[in-house]
Amino acid sequence: MAIFDVLIIGGGPGGYTAALYTARAGLSTVVFEKLSAGGQMGLTTEIDNYPGFPEGVDGFTLGQKMQQGAERFGAKTVLAKVKDVSLEGDVKVVHTSEGDFEGRTVIISTGANPRKLGVEGEEAMTGRGVHYCAACDGMFYRGKNVAVVGGGNSAAHDAAILSRICGHVTLIHRRDTLRATKVYHAPLEAAENLTFSWNSIVKALLTENGKLKGVKVQDVKTGEEREIPCDGLFVSIGRSPATELFKGKLTLDNAGYIVADESTRTSIPGVFAVGDVRTKALRQVVTAVSDGATASHYIEEYLAQKQG
Ligand SMILES: Cc1cc2nc3c(=O)[nH]c(=O)nc-3n(C[C@H](O)[C@H](O)[C@H](O)COP(=O)(O)OP(=O)(O)OC[C@H]3O[C@@H](n4cnc5c(N)ncnc54)[C@H](O)[C@@H]3O)c2cc1C
Repeated sequence: MAIFDVLIIGGGPGGYTAALYTARAGLSTVVFEKLSAGGQMGLTTEIDNYPGFPEGVDGFTLGQKMQQGAERFGAKTVLAKVKDVSLEGDVKVVHTSEGDFEGRTVIISTGANPRKLGVEGEEAMTGRGVHYCAACDGMFYRGKNVAVVGGGNSAAHDAAILSRICGHVTLIHRRDTLRATKVYHAPLEAAENLTFSWNSIVKALLTENGKLKGVKVQDVKTGEEREIPCDGLFVSIGRSPATELFKGKLTLDNAGYIVADESTRTSIPGVFAVGDVRTKALRQVVTAVSDGATASHYIEEYLAQKQG
């Protein structure tokens, strides 16, 4: 069996940027992708904050272009689901639905997914009224009314961003106080266009002609239901990293993210984690691609030390 220099698990922006850099550096590179190139980007029709696209770009197209860019320099794509990994030792093995592959290094770029509310119609309305990233989609609601669900740091951060863009923001939280650290409270208290809906959970999405027109919330203490009109709903109740495969093998943090710093090195030599799957402050396309390039740098260093 051929031993590849780099095996990359996940063909989102992090994975394909790593592949572009490693293949271009002359390293034999395989990307395993279980669905289609681009990862989460494929779920959005407009990415406005990736540099170089003044008109914005649709996520699916950007994903295809990232794949083509990496393949131009010889990276291979195997459409397969990775089912298990053996990461210890100098030769790592990735077990996939298309067979086993051996590599000197592994890059994990399996991403993370936003937690869903679990209300009816949520999937159908995703990207069309229901959103999971204020930094990504907030601009579509300039001057309009939105609601944010959540009470942690990211919900408070999202509400603060939206209060600067939107007409009005309602922050819906199931408790009567925010879990967010104090530093996030002041901008919310200062925002004149923001109100809180405490002790509330979202029970239903209210739509008209396929458009969101509000949400029905229930008071968790009294059981009373009421409607909050809004054009957009931002769900900010946490994310689930795709790290099931790595539990007990790599060091993960309490939330399940792979512990890796800016070098993208994980707890096992020769194994790197890039993009949304690793511990980091900002999960965006631009930070995922940055990680991909960085991983390539440290892989070259790792392989040179092994040979040397
Ligand atoms: C609706 C939406 C809109 C967004 N809008 C923006 C925006 O406007 N701007 C912005 O910067 N960011 C945006 N983001 C966030 C951005 O898409 C992510 O930060 C980025 O895609 C992370 O890249 P990644 O490579 O780390 O992982 P992902 O994009 O999550 O890719 C991971 C890939 O790994 C694959 N994979 C996972 N497990 C396996 C396995 N076992 N075997 C094989 N393959 C596997 C998945 O199929 C997926 O293709 C948005 C996200 C969403 C959901």
